[in-house]
Amino acid sequence: MIDASLTLIRERAKLKGELVRLLGGAKASTSLLGVPLGHNSSFLQGPAFAPPRIREAIWCGSTNSATEEGKELKDPRVLTDVGDVPVQEIRDCGVDDDRLMNVISESVKLVMEEEPLRPLVLGGDHSISYPVVRAVSEKLGGPVDILHLDAHPDIYDCFEGNKYSHASSFARIMEGGYARRLLQVGIRSINQEGREQGKRFGVEQYEMRTFSKDRPMLENLKLGEGVKGVYISIDVDCLDPAFAPGVSHIEPGGLSFRDVLNILHNLQADVVGADVVEFNPQRDTVDGMTAMVAAKLVRELAAKISK
Ligand code: MN
Ligand code: MN
Repeated sequence: MIDASLTLIRERAKLKGELVRLLGGAKASTSLLGVPLGHNSSFLQGPAFAPPRIREAIWCGSTNSATEEGKELKDPRVLTDVGDVPVQEIRDCGVDDDRLMNVISESVKLVMEEEPLRPLVLGGDHSISYPVVRAVSEKLGGPVDILHLDAHPDIYDCFEGNKYSHASSFARIMEGGYARRLLQVGIRSINQEGREQGKRFGVEQYEMRTFSKDRPMLENLKLGEGVKGVYISIDVDCLDPAFAPGVSHIEPGGLSFRDVLNILHNLQADVVGADVVEFNPQRDTVDGMTAMVAAKLVRELAAKISK
């Protein structure tokens, strides 16, 4: 089952990589990889259903296919898609999380194998960032800097007995040495353990309560110098629920969509990979408002990565 799953990703990545190389001229090109995994959530499992909803919204006819700064998403040199890791099938045959996380890491490496493709992962709950960042760092041969947008620091040593919990992914990343700097932005649900773990790992935690003070700096970030590149992880709940109600953990007092775009657009960085996680279609409005929000995050990230 694992071999078949990896073959599926490998062959699609080869196809998309070949296409982009034939067209020529791309130094970096974004490729979507869906990871429909929801069972490491501590509350609701709906994020497992997100990847197809996000794809549908990316190409929704209500908007055009240009990004804000003018990249054309229909150009395969900007955006391709290698499909989903078949998480359900893998779990249905009894594969445990240790091995499932390895399959996710291997899938990311298969995408990176096909120069100039760079992975943009569609979650899924936030547990997937651990195997994805691990793969990016291992493949590039050193740590990356991470820009992590989230209401929560996701840095519990172990949450409810699950070391792979979506609330523990950044503890695993920091323990593994896969990140040099970790900047967490949008934080507004953090307890004592979250702060202590943050200190322990040297995390730069920017909380919403001081956002107006931090804004000029956060909107002019330069990251990744002296490391292998920058990884961006966006938990949709970094946004205020007024902008993105379709998440499992509604936490008022968050970023506006424009705050997030300002941070992304002005970031100076070589972005080597990214993810958009925690969109929960089962909590979305009937007209799929949060799907459009997640899709636009993906579109603007694709523009940021591709060059
Ligand atoms: Mn969160
Ligand atoms: Mn999160």
